[in-house]
Amino acid sequence: MPPVIGHDAILRELRTLARAGQPPHALLLAGPESTGRMVLAREYARLLNCERLHGTRHEEGFDSGMTGESPDAPPCGECRACRMIAEGTHPDVVVMAPGDSLCRPRPGETHASHPQSRDIRICQVRGAIDLVSRFPYEARYRVVILEPADRITPDAANTMLKTLEEPPTQSIFVLLSAAPENLLETVLSRCRRIDVRTVPTWIIEAGLVAQGYEAVTAKAAAAAARGRPGIAVSFAAKPDLMGDRERLLKRCGRIAGSALRERMRYSEELTARWRGDRDRAGILRELETWEEFWESDLRRTAAIGDEDEGREAVTALQTVSRVREYLQANCLPRTVFDFMLMRFPARRLDEGGEEFAETDD
Ligand SMILES: [Zn+2]
Ligand SMILES: [Zn+2]
Repeated sequence: MPPVIGHDAILRELRTLARAGQPPHALLLAGPESTGRMVLAREYARLLNCERLHGTRHEEGFDSGMTGESPDAPPCGECRACRMIAEGTHPDVVVMAPGDSLCRPRPGETHASHPQSRDIRICQVRGAIDLVSRFPYEARYRVVILEPADRITPDAANTMLKTLEEPPTQSIFVLLSAAPENLLETVLSRCRRIDVRTVPTWIIEAGLVAQGYEAVTAKAAAAAARGRPGIAVSFAAKPDLMGDRERLLKRCGRIAGSALRERMRYSEELTARWRGDRDRAGILRELETWEEFWESDLRRTAAIGDEDEGREAVTALQTVSRVREYLQANCLPRTVFDFMLMRFPARRLDEGGEEFAETDD
């Protein structure tokens, strides 16, 4: 588990919640991908379970003098619970994601496995309900992380409501979502919501240096990550990815300036790559690059005070998030990509127009 980069205020809040006599049953970490929601969720699990913070360790030689020492103390990072949560091997800290995780068909039900599923299904929610009906194996609090929580089907969400409100045993749910507006109101109202925002570039840079990356790498990776520590870490670990991003950005500029025929060829290419799972991760990265392109265009239009083009850029940004939703909902890829390319406004950028100022806010 990489350390949390930035988010000091959220860390303070999580520490307070974890110290409370009864922490909230359900927490929603709402914010864009790669901003650190999963790392924060695991940090919360450690805060709830760190043996040193809670004086739950009974081994000999354990220094119980640490217990309750500082109200704002971080988890120790060394006890058995802290280590297993960081490694992702703690039996009581589980992730429920689209696919087969926790899937538990009803007895007698014919039920094909669904590793490629894009939804969190009712059979998985049954598995989670079953799990939380038993006491944790060894944790003070079991933590069930839903990622992404907005992919839970309405049936599954409804099945879960009662458990979300009142988990029968020492269990806590943490919902991660980049699109909390897609969650049922009944789910939202049962969650304590924390908004996870992008992190200033200089903080990401310092975080990377603290992790041992060279200053030059840290600076470049932080600048390219648009406030998302998760992306910065992958850029720092694999600087080649930054080159890919530069190439993609240039290509976005060319496509935005091209005629319909060229755009439709690009749509065809995206469709072929999406079909049969050939390059879905690559396409999702490409959508992020498109967002970066239009965000930069939005800043450009704001700087020259062109409101019409500014509105177009906003529409383009909304289009990208719609496209992501449509793809997740298994809509016909060709239709989705055509829709995207038809909605993108035309941009004729001059040669120097492909500068992408970094965001610091
Ligand atoms: Zn610990
Ligand atoms: Zn299932």
